Amino acid sequence: MRICVVGTGYVGLVAGTCLADLGHIVTCVDNDVDKITGLRRGEIPIYEPGLDHILHRNVREERLSFTTKGAEAVQAAEVVYIAVGTPSGADGSADLSGVMSVANMIGDALVRNSTVVIKSTVPVGTADAVRSAIAARTSVQFDVVSNPEFLKEGAAIDDFMKPDRIVVGCANPETKDVMNQLYKPLMRTSNPILFMDNRSAELTKYAANAFLATRISFINEIARLCEAVGADVEQVRKGAGSDSRIGLRFFFPGIGYGGSCFPKDVKALVETAKDAGVHLQIMDAVEHVNSLQKQLFVERVVERFGEDLTGVHIGLWGLSFKPQTDDMREAPSIVLIDGLTARGATISAYDPEAMEEAKHMVGDKARFATSRLDAVTGADALILVTEWREFRNPDWAEIGTLMRQRIVLDGRNIFEPDRVRQSGFEYFGVGRS
Ligand code: NAD
Repeated sequence: MRICVVGTGYVGLVAGTCLADLGHIVTCVDNDVDKITGLRRGEIPIYEPGLDHILHRNVREERLSFTTKGAEAVQAAEVVYIAVGTPSGADGSADLSGVMSVANMIGDALVRNSTVVIKSTVPVGTADAVRSAIAARTSVQFDVVSNPEFLKEGAAIDDFMKPDRIVVGCANPETKDVMNQLYKPLMRTSNPILFMDNRSAELTKYAANAFLATRISFINEIARLCEAVGADVEQVRKGAGSDSRIGLRFFFPGIGYGGSCFPKDVKALVETAKDAGVHLQIMDAVEHVNSLQKQLFVERVVERFGEDLTGVHIGLWGLSFKPQTDDMREAPSIVLIDGLTARGATISAYDPEAMEEAKHMVGDKARFATSRLDAVTGADALILVTEWREFRNPDWAEIGTLMRQRIVLDGRNIFEPDRVRQSGFEYFGVGRS
C-alpha cells in the first residue's frame, strides 16, 4: 500500500519506518524543515535503538522517503496516518491544534478514496472532529480510524513489530479490511487486533497510560510508608507483585514518572472527565503523588546537607526520563537540577544519549560531564537518576577515590546497599530500610 505518515517524531518515524519494512511505500511528512533535511541526509533526529539500521535500509530500497510537502504525500497515499504531537494545553487538556491543522490539510488535498488513521493520543471525540473537518473541505470519500499507539521509547521497534495488541476504532467493514491488511503481518503470534468504536479506542489509550501511571504512584507511596515504618520496599514489591493478579512488571519505586506521555495523558484524561461531569479522584491523587516524588531527592539532599547547598557539588548519572531514550520531556532530572541549584548546589551531569536534549532544557544550570567518572569527580554526593545499563555495576572503590564525600542517592534502587556501604559510602535509596 502507499502510506503517508504526517508527524515524524518518536511515533511517526518509528511507525513509518516499520510500515516500510513491512513492504509498504511510505512517505513521512513533517513541517520541521531541519528535521526533514536531516532525515534526507540520513541523520536520525532521535535516539531509538535499532531504528537507524531499518530506516537506512528502507530508504536505500526506496520504500521510505521524507518530505515537507504534505499535500503531495496525501494525494499519493491510500492510507494517511496522523502522528503529530498532542501536548498539554494551558488547562491540562490535550492541545489538538496540530491534529486539526493536519486534518484541514488532508481535507484540502484528498483526491482519492482514503483511510485517515489517527495515531496520535487524542481525547474522546477527536475522530468525529477530524471527520467533520475533512468532510467540510472535500467531497471525496474517506474514513477516519482511531488507532492509538502503545510503543515504549527505547523498545519502540519491537513494540511496533510485536505488539501485545492493536486497537482499531472504526465501524466500516471496508475500512476494517484495510486495517487488517496493514496489521495482519504483525499478528502472526495470535495477539489480537481489537476492533471497536472510535470513542472506545480513544479512551483505551488514556485508560492504559493512566493505569500504568497509577501503578508507579502506588508503589512510590508504599515506598514512602516503608521508610516511615522501617520496611524495605524491594521486599514488599516482590512479595506483593508475585501475586499473579498484581505482577512484578512495571512495579518499581523511583523518583517519579516523566516522559512525553504519562504526565500529559493523565492531565488530559482528568480534563476529558471534567468536561463530561466526572471527577477522576484517583487520577488527581496519582498526579499529586508523582509531583511529591519528583521532589524526594531534593528533600533528601537538604536533610543531609542543610537548606543552604552553597558549596555542595552533586554528580548526576542519567538525565533522560528513562533509559534507552534521549527524551527529556518532563524528566525528573529537570526538577532535581532546578531544586538543587536554586539552593546553591552545583551539578555535573552525565547521560549516554540525552545530553544534547538536556542542554536545551536546563541550559547552564548543570555542567555536562564527558563520562560517568568525570561527573562524580570532586562531588559531595552521587545521585543516580536514570538506570542506564552502564551505571549498574560501578567500581565503588574507584568512585570513592574520585569523590569529595562518599554519599550515594539511588533514585532507582539499582545498587546493592550493603555492597555500597562496604566501600565506605552512605547509601540512600527509595523506600529501603
Ligand atoms: P514528537 O513531538 O516527537 O513528534 C511530533 C512531530 O510532529 C514533530 O516532528 C513535529 O514537527 C511534527 N508536527 C507537528 N505539527 C505538524 C504539522 N501540522 N504538520 C506536520 N508535522 C507536524 O511526538 P511523539 O512523541 O512522536 O508523539 C506523537 C503522538 O503520539 C502524541 O500524541 C503522543 O502522545 C503519542 N504517543 C507517543 C508515544 C511516545 O512514546 N513518544 C507513545 C505512544 C503515543
